Amino acid sequence: MTENNNSETSNAKPSSFKAHTPISRRSATAIVKTSLSTMSPSQTTVSKSVMPIIRDRDSGSTDINNPDDQSTNKGNPGNSKHSNSTHSVNQRKTGQILRIHHLNCGTMCPACQKLINGYGSWKKPARLVCHCLLLETTLGLILVDCGFGSRDVQNPRGRLGDTFLKLARPTLDISETALYQIQALGYAPEAVSHIIPTHLDLDHAGGLSDFPHAKVHVLEAELLQIVQPDMRDLLRFRSVQFEHQPQWVVHSLSQSQAQQPWFGFDAIAPITALANDLLLVPLIGHTKGHVGVAVRQGKKWLLHCGDAYFHHSQISAQPRMPPGLKFFEKLVQTYAKPRIANLARLQQLALHHGDEVSLFCAHDPQELMRYTAS
Ligand SMILES: [Zn+2]
Repeated sequence: MTENNNSETSNAKPSSFKAHTPISRRSATAIVKTSLSTMSPSQTTVSKSVMPIIRDRDSGSTDINNPDDQSTNKGNPGNSKHSNSTHSVNQRKTGQILRIHHLNCGTMCPACQKLINGYGSWKKPARLVCHCLLLETTLGLILVDCGFGSRDVQNPRGRLGDTFLKLARPTLDISETALYQIQALGYAPEAVSHIIPTHLDLDHAGGLSDFPHAKVHVLEAELLQIVQPDMRDLLRFRSVQFEHQPQWVVHSLSQSQAQQPWFGFDAIAPITALANDLLLVPLIGHTKGHVGVAVRQGKKWLLHCGDAYFHHSQISAQPRMPPGLKFFEKLVQTYAKPRIANLARLQQLALHHGDEVSLFCAHDPQELMRYTAS
């Protein structure tokens, strides 16, 4: 489903790959080192210092006034599909979000609907989604989270592992991948210029490899889990999903000059040209560098909360968390105290600013339906 961003609402490769081999600290470091060494000149700054301050000018966020910037023009929604659009990239000094799509990029059906969804049958499987955003902008397409990718669908055991497959029971339907849905909208994969994953768990990062040319924005703490994993990180993150060497753009809240307050939360503008419309909102706890992603939609904001919470009732005045989901949430948390504190802040945000900010998490099918029901 699609929403036009100027407040009008409308309805909206694979190649051969290796089987998963156990990740080692050395190989994970090598993967990212190699990735950094192959970055474009504008990103070389990144490779000199593994975790630098990334300013927009350095980080590769697109200079829309630079006609040589191929990432700006290639497959740009303003230039390709909507060729009669007045939003010509070379005429604008700032970027603009033209349209927002809410996509499900992966359905999961773990056991027991009642325990996980909080309604229905004890015997029927639950249903969870991977709620992603696709932004059509004057800078090209931007994905917020990318769910499972085509390579996950083609090689589930190698990419996702047996344990996850048995517990989460993803349907792995190729038509749910961001790649498929973007192509169905008439765009080439190369039209995706930026990806902002809320974090790098396998159900949020699997689609990265379908867009190897896109810049991937993460907090420093999130990427460190891949570059310098501890034992828990080694078990949690799937190194095979990063073997294509993503073009990481690393952001650090403490050092960022693009930092700005947002409804009392810290926030970072990852792309200068969209600084008024697109923000990283650190929500640490589920992982070490987990973020929410705020997207302006007309006079309101959307806040993609990733896995900062799992069930819509958690941000209501009277939370009624299904017990199975509650157990899972605690099981997979990295830092308990900040996670719980951030959840409380999100509850307050929903309570006091619900008319200005629309919150949703990654996996709640009822929340997704709010945006996609016609
Ligand atoms: Zn998740």
